[in-house]
Amino acid sequence: MSDPPPEARPFRGAAPRSPVADGPADLLLLGARAITLDPARPAAEAVAIGGGRILAVGSEAEARRFATGSTRVRDLAGRTLLPGFYDSHNHLLATAYSQTLVDLSAATKLADVLARLAERAARTPPGQWVVSSGRWHESQLAERRFPRRAELDQAVPDHPVMIQRGGHNVVVNSRALALAGVADDVPNPAGGTYVRDPATGQLTGHLIDAAMRPIRAVVPRPSQAELEDAVRALQVRYHAAGLTSVVEPGLEPDEMAVFGSLRSRGELRVRTTMMWRLRPGFDDAALRPVLEALESDAVPLDGSDPWLRTTMLKLGIDGGVEAGLYREPYAHPDDPANPRGLPLMSAENFRAVCRAAAARGWQVGTHCVGDAGIDLVLEAYAAADQVAPIAGLRWTLIHMMYAREDHWPLANRLGLVVTAQQPLQYTLADGFRHYLGPERASAIEPLRMYLDRSTQPVGGGSDSPVTPFEPLLGIWSSVTRATDRAGIQGPEWAVGVEEALRMYTLGSAWCAFEERTKGSLSRGTYADLVVLDADPRQVEPAAIRHISVAQTYVDGRLVYDRQDGPADDRSEPAA
Ligand SMILES: [Zn+2]
Repeated sequence: MSDPPPEARPFRGAAPRSPVADGPADLLLLGARAITLDPARPAAEAVAIGGGRILAVGSEAEARRFATGSTRVRDLAGRTLLPGFYDSHNHLLATAYSQTLVDLSAATKLADVLARLAERAARTPPGQWVVSSGRWHESQLAERRFPRRAELDQAVPDHPVMIQRGGHNVVVNSRALALAGVADDVPNPAGGTYVRDPATGQLTGHLIDAAMRPIRAVVPRPSQAELEDAVRALQVRYHAAGLTSVVEPGLEPDEMAVFGSLRSRGELRVRTTMMWRLRPGFDDAALRPVLEALESDAVPLDGSDPWLRTTMLKLGIDGGVEAGLYREPYAHPDDPANPRGLPLMSAENFRAVCRAAAARGWQVGTHCVGDAGIDLVLEAYAAADQVAPIAGLRWTLIHMMYAREDHWPLANRLGLVVTAQQPLQYTLADGFRHYLGPERASAIEPLRMYLDRSTQPVGGGSDSPVTPFEPLLGIWSSVTRATDRAGIQGPEWAVGVEEALRMYTLGSAWCAFEERTKGSLSRGTYADLVVLDADPRQVEPAAIRHISVAQTYVDGRLVYDRQDGPADDRSEPAA
């Protein structure tokens, strides 16, 4: 990673850094093997914490200078201390909600999928929806395909069913289609596909992207109270995984209200930067409300709160495994009429919303998977740059999965950042191999290329709930390029352990304009820390995934403490 270029345009949503007090310390962590991510002092043995911030990082004597009679001391007994992990792409709300849905992640054959749905239906009143989490993939099944509508009708006859898979595909039964008013003769919408049986022309129940909308419109949405409960429960699991900050990559205003409500009661314990999701579509009718909302500040840009920020806009140019937009045709296209995939918005509308965002000083991030999708993003960002320079605003290439060498000159000239999600390769490699063929599939998520070619720090993250959220799984896969069911993919794109740790901390903080308050252990940053049982740099790469999180601190408070970890009872007054 080379030095970042100078700021060309100051960003008004950048996290402010207030002056740090000189103590007293509430807590000293001693006996640590600290990986600080601060180039001025990469290693340390002690940290002093006060008022939710880091007061000092260094030797035990340096930390003890901030101690008074009421300061607690905890000996980490040689354990590894890191800044809390920061996931630059984590759908926290969807992950929380998905914990309440049917879990298909352990299914190994179609019969398992059908049995799990039937089991949920048996304890759900007839007529109510049975919905699965999106965190699974048909390539994990022996049959390597989705269930068909008729199979779902047979397994769950009395309930509407929606199987989600990732964020771009659903499979539904006949009751669900009827409730949504979708018949076999429905035309494909712009940006979406109703998959049909080639012999009969009947809908198979598999709906892609825009074709999912009529179904999503009739599935009852959880109440705000249910969502708040789900987020509260999930935060506990995030802390147990060492995760202390996320970018929430795409929320509607009513979803943001869930976070606002938790924040107002002091119950938001994972620091969250929200992205406002915009859908500029294909025509003027879709574009106009988006531009009006932006121009009236329907969601205000605000980066000042330490727990909840709204500083980024989310756009999406293409779909996922089978629906990215590529320069060359798919090896196995779902839709032979569109063998390179389809965009999710028109190039004109994309440019129009980017121009408006640049003029109003927002940071923009766009989901892009295929190389042709990335081309469209670069083109729209360059058009926005003509209206108001975007260098310095860290506009983002989200995923940038099939990055090509020729993307970098323009990406770097515009000062773009990449947020990378190795867990997508871990989870979906099998699907990529089927749809793209083995050569392109192995070059998906080329981390080494991002680090070598980008002039900016690179963010790390997961894309939960499409993938597991555990940062140590992502770091392990980044180092080994190991996948769930497709072995090692593209080992030449692996990165080193320290590089992976940097992506999941300081890199993500940089991509969200929070490098002054997060991502390193240095004086003045928030006291968000994770204690690991082993140093990821010292163990066999294969073992990184299984390193145990002993403790997690947020804002200087212990929020997770494994039973046999360094415990509270070992803390002692400092003086
Ligand atoms: Zn995502």
